[in-house]
Amino acid sequence: MLKVTRQTDPDLAKLVDLELERQEHNIEMIASESTAPLAVMELTGSVFTNKTLEGYPGARFQAGSHIADQVETMAVERAKELYGAEHCNIQSYSGSTANYSVFASVLKPGDRVLSMRLDQGGHLTHGSPANWVSKIYEFDFYAMDPETELIDYDALEKKAEEFKPKLIIAGASSYSRLIDYERIAETAKKVGAYFMVDMAHIAGLVAAGVIPSPIPYADFVTSSTTKTFCSARSGMVFCKAEHAKLLDKGTFPGALGSIQLHTMAAKAWSFKYAATPEFKAIMEQVVKNAQCLAEELTKHGFRIVSGGTDNHLLVADLRNKGITGKAFQNALDSIGITVNKNMVPFDPEKPSVTSGVRIGLTAVTQRGLKEGEIREIAEIMNEVANAPADEANLAACKAKAQALIARFPLYPAGAFDEN
Ligand SMILES: *Cc1c(COP(=O)(O)O)cnc(C)c1O
Repeated sequence: MLKVTRQTDPDLAKLVDLELERQEHNIEMIASESTAPLAVMELTGSVFTNKTLEGYPGARFQAGSHIADQVETMAVERAKELYGAEHCNIQSYSGSTANYSVFASVLKPGDRVLSMRLDQGGHLTHGSPANWVSKIYEFDFYAMDPETELIDYDALEKKAEEFKPKLIIAGASSYSRLIDYERIAETAKKVGAYFMVDMAHIAGLVAAGVIPSPIPYADFVTSSTTKTFCSARSGMVFCKAEHAKLLDKGTFPGALGSIQLHTMAAKAWSFKYAATPEFKAIMEQVVKNAQCLAEELTKHGFRIVSGGTDNHLLVADLRNKGITGKAFQNALDSIGITVNKNMVPFDPEKPSVTSGVRIGLTAVTQRGLKEGEIREIAEIMNEVANAPADEANLAACKAKAQALIARFPLYPAGAFDEN
């Protein structure tokens, strides 16, 4: 794959080799990561990258679009069929820009938006003070019930009635439970707000029918196509037919420029792949593995936020174990297991320290790990948490982690050979 780069820029080729080696020997448990199938790699590197086009199939601003039009139409039709959606705009470059497209479609400066608290699982693009959207729109936030650590739907409704938002957003980066879309849709209807679900993390699970879909309930559904969807670094937006014109205009020229035909082609491949029994089986196993890890960590004395998980991720509260999120993340990283520090609901620690870690099961499940291996990983995690500064302990844990993952190749042997 790197034949030309190897000749023209060996320094850079070396970095690619090192990254492949890192991924190969690492137990990847960052909840937003997954492994792109080889076809996605091929298509994102294909000649489609050369074509500049603005507009939509049949109404482009540039010539030479007849093949591109077929690609975009194929991607849209497959996406609509996979998710049972009335309309899809496939031009987003990422989950973030998918959200910006919807904002550009339905909001005016100063409009109000209600979303989930960022320190409890919401995303930067849902109104973080650090993100530009908070300078244009007025955000308020709903929270978890401190007892159950689930969304407090009654409080959400009360807040919506007082705040009168134009848009309500559901969907999160570190929420391990199912969301009651029907309930929030009712609230949105009651207060006259649009309802948008950001399914960036769970799009693969939804596609496989492993967890309920937000599509029937939301006006707009946005997503990244990495994460559980396991495709190109890109995005997508679905909506009800009645909003189709609004969304298309909001996306182009409202929020984006020319299309990225190469990732669009990769997404088209993935919409076909996501309908196969193979993908469905992986997604089913992702949830089983997440539930297994939650149970095993609980046995080892970790507290799992909300008591468990219904999807691909869990948040472990480390306070019982006397270690911070930051220290645990770093200790695990040193032995080749990657997770990220994460706030637990109502966390007393700073965001740079945290009391928890977020753990995702997508990438390891794609490599073929099942409950037996997940139990081993829980044991290793426990050994690390119990003596995170003991070099001999860490060395022993690293040896176990490497031996485990070596049994499950990242890609088939020879996948990247250059002849
Ligand atoms: C990751 C994520 C995004 C952003 O997706 P990118 O593809 O990284 O831009 C948006 N919303 C949520 C809830 C996410 O978790």
